[in-house]
Amino acid sequence: MEYRELGKTGMKVSALSFGASSLGGGIFRQVEESEALRTVATALDRGINFIDVSPFYGLTRAEAVLGKGLRGVDRGSYYLATKVGRYGDTEFDFSASRVLASVDESLTRLGVEYVDIIQAHDIEYSDLKQVVEETIPALRRVQEAGKAKFIGVTGYPLAIFQSVLSHVNVDTILSYNHYSLNDTTLVGLLPFIKENGAGVINASPLSQGLLTIRGTPAWHPAPEEVQRVCMKAAVYCKEEGSDLAKLAVQFSARNPQIATTLVGTADPGNLRRNLDWIEEPFDEALAAEVKQILSPIQDQTWVVGRPENN
Ligand code: NAD
Repeated sequence: MEYRELGKTGMKVSALSFGASSLGGGIFRQVEESEALRTVATALDRGINFIDVSPFYGLTRAEAVLGKGLRGVDRGSYYLATKVGRYGDTEFDFSASRVLASVDESLTRLGVEYVDIIQAHDIEYSDLKQVVEETIPALRRVQEAGKAKFIGVTGYPLAIFQSVLSHVNVDTILSYNHYSLNDTTLVGLLPFIKENGAGVINASPLSQGLLTIRGTPAWHPAPEEVQRVCMKAAVYCKEEGSDLAKLAVQFSARNPQIATTLVGTADPGNLRRNLDWIEEPFDEALAAEVKQILSPIQDQTWVVGRPENN
């Protein structure tokens, strides 16, 4: 496993890291707790040292299950990130009072005294003025209280990072679906993010199922054409005796400009495969063919959250 510096935090994070959203079940499929716990153990055993979660995932269940999985594990041996502000599909609260209460609730569920990064979750659903003037100052208070080492913001439209970082400093940004085989638009923003001193966490190398033969869950917002073309690429890879998911995970994890890529699964076998894949050679010829198949939809994005934040 390769480890990379995360911005100016001093954290050296594994190139592939673990997104715990699936642990709560319900996001991609129902999940047995014992399977979820084995996935957490597999992540740590295999050198992943960064785990991301949120009270939103499984409506607090992912944090609770992850907390169980981390019980008894040396707190100095892994980095943990959770979030504030999003609590349901349509439930958001970025107020300072909710931030402070939410962090305490997360620490209790996770069974830890601090998290390494506390992040405002999916800020494209918020009034960004509130995020800048209220949420981020509240996160700094959490940091001053020793409950988090660093603070960050997360979300889908890249415009949110430009807006927020133009007004206020954060230590990290978490972007998803924008550095994967079908969408590399995050690259254009990397110099700006670096200039503003933030570390980059990339999430969803499989574009949340788009780059798998299983395809997307029903809630996936990608336009129908994007889903169809990605499935064409998945079928092509299968016919060639390979797996689009393999290329996708390798692609996202191998860019040294991106500190870490969070992959999500509650299946220890899938996680092991992902970890094996990043140690294997990247098939440049197959990747070029896949890029050709994906070209009609390359870098296509969609609106998420408030239209004015996109
Ligand atoms: P992902 O691209 O990692 O895809 C996850 C899906 O791919 C799941 O269905 C999983 O079962 C499947 N999968 C994983 N490995 C596979 C393999 N080897 N073969 C076939 N299928 C495989 O998307 P994600 O889970 O949404 O993102 C990863 C993590 O990033 C999340 O768990 C979360 O922690 C974080 N994230 C954060 C935000 C945010 O803060 N706004 C948004 C998206 C993701």
